[in-house]
Amino acid sequence: WNMTAAAPENILLPPDRPVIKARLSSNENPFGPSEKARKALMEAIGDSYMYPRESMQHFKSLIAKEEGVSEEHILLGAGSSELLMAAALNYSLKAPGSSILSADPSYMSLIRAATQYGSGWEKVPLTKDYAHDLDAMEKQVTDKTSLVYICNPNNPTGTIVSAAKLASFCEVVSKKKPVFMDEAYIDYIPDSRKNSMINAVKKGQNVIVARTFSKVHGFAGLRIGYVIALPETVTELRKYYTGGMNIAATSVNAAIASYQDTEYMAYAIKKNAESKAFLYKTLKDAGYEYVPSYANFVLFPIQIDGKRFTEEMSKRGVSIRNWAFDNKQWCRVSMGTMEQMQMFAQAFKEIA
Ligand code: PLP
Repeated sequence: WNMTAAAPENILLPPDRPVIKARLSSNENPFGPSEKARKALMEAIGDSYMYPRESMQHFKSLIAKEEGVSEEHILLGAGSSELLMAAALNYSLKAPGSSILSADPSYMSLIRAATQYGSGWEKVPLTKDYAHDLDAMEKQVTDKTSLVYICNPNNPTGTIVSAAKLASFCEVVSKKKPVFMDEAYIDYIPDSRKNSMINAVKKGQNVIVARTFSKVHGFAGLRIGYVIALPETVTELRKYYTGGMNIAATSVNAAIASYQDTEYMAYAIKKNAESKAFLYKTLKDAGYEYVPSYANFVLFPIQIDGKRFTEEMSKRGVSIRNWAFDNKQWCRVSMGTMEQMQMFAQAFKEIA
């Protein structure tokens, strides 16, 4: 492999923007799309005068075959955000006065959208290990709940819940209310297939699984994701998104290539693990704790004000994100290339 890392300074930004050399704030794959995906992307340019109906169909059939579901179980999106938004709209408008139930903190895109459409938000604190508290969540499902949202691995904590526990949660709760499983980072879990709740959908449970190409596949800027759910749920969600005409032909073609490029996925996962091991050591050596992560980012408590920490890192060309919960200030750092992790470590040493 001789992958060139993405170069944030090449992006056409206004000239007065501070130069961020280590972009460790959005949980992207710093190596970008695989060589095969890049080739497919280039090849699709010439055919881009056509709507990508056939290639979208082909992509769907590949997913259906790989996951053992029918094509009616699949909805493709321009990133998974579009599909999270469709679910937010569907479940808030369907039951006015209802609430989305989720862990706190978790990924907020679906919840934020739902609350903008009048939905309430029932939040359940994480366990002391910063994982989903499934027992507490199950108890909190009421008639007023419209949808249960679970992010596994969770963003921003990187924690997971056991596959067996999650499977029984889905089995029980989905009889009462739909369960939305955001599996954006599932590829980073060693046994992702066993951990995926696509298994619950296949058993006919009312579970909606969202996947994205923005992480392991390095497609955040190309915008591809999909949902696997019961066909009747897919029909409902379809009403709320621009389906059929939403994804660029170039992106679909590249996604078809990347989906089958298991070698590249293994490479990206390995590089992620190396960067994570380096970060763990950096933090440990500096006397810092961290939340062990199953994803491509790590959350750790910081001892100075989060906003100041973020600004100081940014001045040194490193972007990260800060959180405040559990009476602590936190930094979430995404895994970059080893060079970027070293930049992080250097800046961190100067500030922390
Ligand atoms: N879900 C989770 C948990 C995320 O962290 C993100 C992005 O960071 C998304 C969904 C949305 O990603 P995309 O729209 O690129 O698929």
